[in-house]
Amino acid sequence: MTDQITTSRADEDDTWVELPGSEDFEHDGEPVGSDDDLDELGYDPGDDPASQPPPVPPPPAPDGGGRGDNLKFPVSKAAIPSWVQQHGNGEIPLDAMIKVAPISSGYLVPEAAAAWRNLQNAASAAGFTLTMTGAYRTYDQQKSLFADRYTTSDTGRKSKVWNGTTYWLKAGMAMAAVPGTSNHGWGCAVDAALGGYGNAAEPVREPFLSWALTEARRHGWSWEVQSEPWHLRLVSFESAAAPEPAVTSESAEPATTPQQPPVPPPPTLKRGDKGGQVAALQGICTLFRWGDCGRSDGTFGPRTEDAVKAMQGALGVDADGRYGPKSSAALGAFMTAMATSR
Ligand SMILES: [Zn+2]
Repeated sequence: MTDQITTSRADEDDTWVELPGSEDFEHDGEPVGSDDDLDELGYDPGDDPASQPPPVPPPPAPDGGGRGDNLKFPVSKAAIPSWVQQHGNGEIPLDAMIKVAPISSGYLVPEAAAAWRNLQNAASAAGFTLTMTGAYRTYDQQKSLFADRYTTSDTGRKSKVWNGTTYWLKAGMAMAAVPGTSNHGWGCAVDAALGGYGNAAEPVREPFLSWALTEARRHGWSWEVQSEPWHLRLVSFESAAAPEPAVTSESAEPATTPQQPPVPPPPTLKRGDKGGQVAALQGICTLFRWGDCGRSDGTFGPRTEDAVKAMQGALGVDADGRYGPKSSAALGAFMTAMATSR
């Protein structure tokens, strides 16, 4: 069942490949608030052809409408796992990814899936229901999206070159990446939303954005352009799988940052558990060929337990088949070493 995954990741060293800068990558690099290519609500209406754009309630207030217009979103250099790049942009088999959302494009590579789950859990602990309007975008989807938005006639708007031909942005359309260059095609980007999926999705807005400003990077995510606060992409797995900072409540020093709500430690995952965290864990085990949990179905059964034991053996922790704080810490250290070893 996992042959395809295993053979496609034959390289022993799963290194990370730096991506080019955001210039002509996913979107044009625009300074804060200067992007007139979005609709009046700041949302990119056609960003994910595979899902419905969220209905957008009118912005509530004149202070930027809660859309984070006055926030400066950190943009970090992105990297993708080399095995992902070997497949090609928009050509990653769905079997090699994890479905993290109940929408057709809701796939991410395991590294990003794990990071997304961690961010979702942290958001949930802070009172936000973090969802998405889209994630993975195939090459064909990128092509049709580009064709929808760009034309070979000079419209006087922004232009891009694809296969040696210049294309201009059509009136009323939001920018799109040149096909084959979207971060969505690497299974490493998410268009975040709040509240629900499909018609229930609401645009990201305050106070979530202020919260995400400090939390997203900690969980391995960065923005790409200032004008798209919903577009998050994986920066590296380094912080994604890293354990939450240990909450040493006993010996705790006086809290110096009381404005930060404490982040709960990751839950122990064990046989019988179900859900996205389990799916992410399965994806990680598969990625590193620890055991054979089969498809990442989010159910922690005996095969997953064996895989966790294999992982624990490889990482030098007690092989009890329960993924708890020690395993999480060991995996985090392993990932950090891997992400920085190139
Ligand atoms: Zn996006």
